[in-house]
Amino acid sequence: MRSKSKTTPYVSVDTHKCEACWKCVDTCRTGTLGKVNFWFHKHVVVINAESCRGCGPCVEVCPEGAFVRIERSQMRCQALS
Ligand code: SF4
Ligand code: SF4
Repeated sequence: MRSKSKTTPYVSVDTHKCEACWKCVDTCRTGTLGKVNFWFHKHVVVINAESCRGCGPCVEVCPEGAFVRIERSQMRCQALS
């Protein structure tokens, strides 16, 4: 079973900012992103982090600024922690 998370090796999403427009899900061509889509609780979710290529359309398309790129320095810190 795939685990649900908020980060891939290249991007992270703040689900508190997500307004569930699904633009990022529609633009991602790798199946990395999915939906938590209950009537009372909706937001994007990372369903397959390993498939993320770091291409970036999710960052560009989000009107809420919920997606950010993970900088290389942060990646090194995460790897060491
Ligand atoms: S584009 Fe932004 S607001 Fe829309 S579903 Fe994705 S994270 Fe949420
Ligand atoms: S960086 Fe590319 S592959 Fe990764 S979640 Fe965003 S659109 Fe999908």
